Amino acid sequence: MLKKLLRKVMPAKAGKSKLHKTVIPFSQHGIREDMLSFAAEKVVRRLHEQGYEAYVVGGAVRDLLLGVEPKDFDVATNATPEEVHKIFRRSRIIGRRFQIVHVMVGPETIEVTTFRGGSNALQNAHGRIMKDNTYGSMEEDAQRRDFTCNALYYDPIRQEITDFHNGAADIAARRLVIIGAAAARYQEDPVRILRAVRLSGKLGFDVEAQTAAPIPECAGRLKHEPVARLFDEIMKILFSGHARDCLRRLNTLGVSDDIHPLLTALKTAEQPENRIITLALKNTDERLRQDKPVSVGFVLAAVLWPRLEQHWQHYRKHGMKPVPALTEAVNTMRDTVEKGWGVPQRFSATMREIWQLQPQFDNRLGARPHRLVAQARFRAAYDFLVLRTQTGEVPQELADWWTRFQHADDETRNQMSNTAPQNGDSADKPKRRRRKPRRKKAAAD
Ligand code: ATP
Ligand code: MG
Repeated sequence: MLKKLLRKVMPAKAGKSKLHKTVIPFSQHGIREDMLSFAAEKVVRRLHEQGYEAYVVGGAVRDLLLGVEPKDFDVATNATPEEVHKIFRRSRIIGRRFQIVHVMVGPETIEVTTFRGGSNALQNAHGRIMKDNTYGSMEEDAQRRDFTCNALYYDPIRQEITDFHNGAADIAARRLVIIGAAAARYQEDPVRILRAVRLSGKLGFDVEAQTAAPIPECAGRLKHEPVARLFDEIMKILFSGHARDCLRRLNTLGVSDDIHPLLTALKTAEQPENRIITLALKNTDERLRQDKPVSVGFVLAAVLWPRLEQHWQHYRKHGMKPVPALTEAVNTMRDTVEKGWGVPQRFSATMREIWQLQPQFDNRLGARPHRLVAQARFRAAYDFLVLRTQTGEVPQELADWWTRFQHADDETRNQMSNTAPQNGDSADKPKRRRRKPRRKKAAAD
């Protein structure tokens, strides 16, 4: 009786139900051999030769179906990490929570994962997966993936896609659907919320209602994630090529405010006083679309500039001159940024240099502009000045002067630095050298 009642009120266990497997032939998916990376195909072929199952899986299959060039190729297999490592001389096992193997083929690295098993993952009191190195079948592996569009298995030799979760149909409908019960899946791994933000923004997918519903309530759990993992995920959002779409999703999906200062900055980017952030993201999205290089330090400098300015203003209000006040503000941010927010030192160093050089653009007289153009970080700092011009924070005339100065020949440069106006406010005015009281003898000169 009790059993009967329980069965009525308890939802069916997700892992137990038999999945409906669909095999999609070439005539329906149309993925040609030349669309696949040489390395991915080679890895799959070698694993097959050794008697294992192997498939291209995850984002690559999704992107190929969408006609987008995949960023990277992942392979899933029933060979264990040790077995994979033995087969490929140029490979290494990485990760603890999830062990994977990086296989290097020419310049490419293919991530090879072993099919994850159903229910043996080690979870903490909040349901978060702490370790998941139990292996299983392809079907179980599909169940453990995040979204239906990411759970497609492509066999390049048979040219078939295996789909357990209706992923191909969801891709066709441009719908992001989580596999299983959404709240439990976010509890297992809250980073899936940021993946939902990024993937829906990047792919222009709608987040299906049940996938979106628990996000506002579950997002707070992200605060307990290791800060380095959060930083990595935020970087993927910033450099997805669709950063502005992603930041809109952060707000519409209801990701709470106080998870990570970089996320907070992104969430408030559309406020007028934070315009520099949206400008930088627009710039980054466009550069990525044109396959131009982008700099993490530069983007961080823009995203965190409004915050730095608050500190800068604070020190100026307390009577400090602009340049020392800026140095103080930068130092105040440094520890928080590197230790508290997980920003690696190499990115934070570039960001700080770009900031520190800003007041120096006010010095256009004498030797100083010549020294500034010779600085290694000049170009990035100049680009940043241009960004500040676009927000109206810096006069256009100043940026124009520097545009001309950097491209001018020596003679024109000398002329410019002899006749340039000296700016007021933030200028680091050349200090008048205090002369020593002249000695009698010198006075005769
Ligand atoms: P991208 O285009 O950015 O590479 P992706 O979906 O391929 O997107 P990856 O980080 O490369 O993202 O992950 C590869 C695959 O691993 C995903 O497609 C998904 O199937 C699975 N995966 C990644 N992260 C998670 C997660 N947190 N929970 C469950 N499955 C995940
Ligand atoms: Mg991928």
